[in-house]
Amino acid sequence: MNEGAPFDLRGRVAIVTGGSRGIGGAIALGLARAGAAVVVNYAANREAAAKVVAEIGAAGGRAIEMRADVGDLAQHGRIVGAAREAFGRIDILVNNAAVTKRESFLDATPDAWGRTVDVNLKGVYFLSQAAARVMAAQRSGKIINISSVHDERPMADNSVYNITKAGLVMLTKSLALELAEKGIQVNCVSPGAILTDETRDRISDPFRRSRVLGKIPANRVGDPSDVVGAVLLLASPASDYITGTTVYVDGGMRLK
Ligand code: NAP
Repeated sequence: MNEGAPFDLRGRVAIVTGGSRGIGGAIALGLARAGAAVVVNYAANREAAAKVVAEIGAAGGRAIEMRADVGDLAQHGRIVGAAREAFGRIDILVNNAAVTKRESFLDATPDAWGRTVDVNLKGVYFLSQAAARVMAAQRSGKIINISSVHDERPMADNSVYNITKAGLVMLTKSLALELAEKGIQVNCVSPGAILTDETRDRISDPFRRSRVLGKIPANRVGDPSDVVGAVLLLASPASDYITGTTVYVDGGMRLK
């Protein structure tokens, strides 16, 4: 399943959180096409995860689905354990799953803060720790955090999300610093406006779409497949000397 792939991931094992839909689904397929075996993590929608696993299998790749809430630290052992049991190792962790609850700062509640931080930041931190312990023993590994252009440019009425994404950038640098000597690289990919279930309503509405397009120099909304190339680079040996960086995949959105 790696025919013509720009980055060869044959023999590698990847975990993609939220790998069943949207950007995570495209990343799971992209890693599998490059030759990696993939653990497709999801929270609730088993059908979507099974579809990605089937698509990978039909193309000659290897994948398993894994239901687990990354915001619940007690479930991290099952995610890491499933990868090792099915495929024997962990080479790549893509921390893609995230939640968002749009509300103004004046209406924000501690509940929304807790859940968003648990999934987007605390979950990423401790799942990375669980995977990095395996990678450190292997003396190699790649951790890729999916942040957002909103790690740099705040989105109105989404302050907690913005804060977690900005935190991911420093999380990336901090882990990169500590893990470099173990042969583990940690990097971030920050997408701009990408058409997924999460953004479809906003982007489909003609008025809101033209407002979004006005912020994107490339004058188009991204597709989940647009994010895959940066992830493949950061998952492959081509990036063995790249760590602690953030790659923006945003059609220039943060420049405007
Ligand atoms: P999406 O279409 O809403 O898909 C979310 C995925 O995450 C689904 O597979 C979902 O599984 C899973 N998930 C949600 N909560 C989870 C949890 N607690 N534990 C495990 N899995 C969980 O999202 P997306 O738009 O592709 O976004 C993916 C990533 O890109 C996120 O980090 C997001 O912040 C970032 N991003 C997106 C955009 C954009 O424009 N779309 C822009 C910048 C950054 P179920 O289906 O089972 O619920």
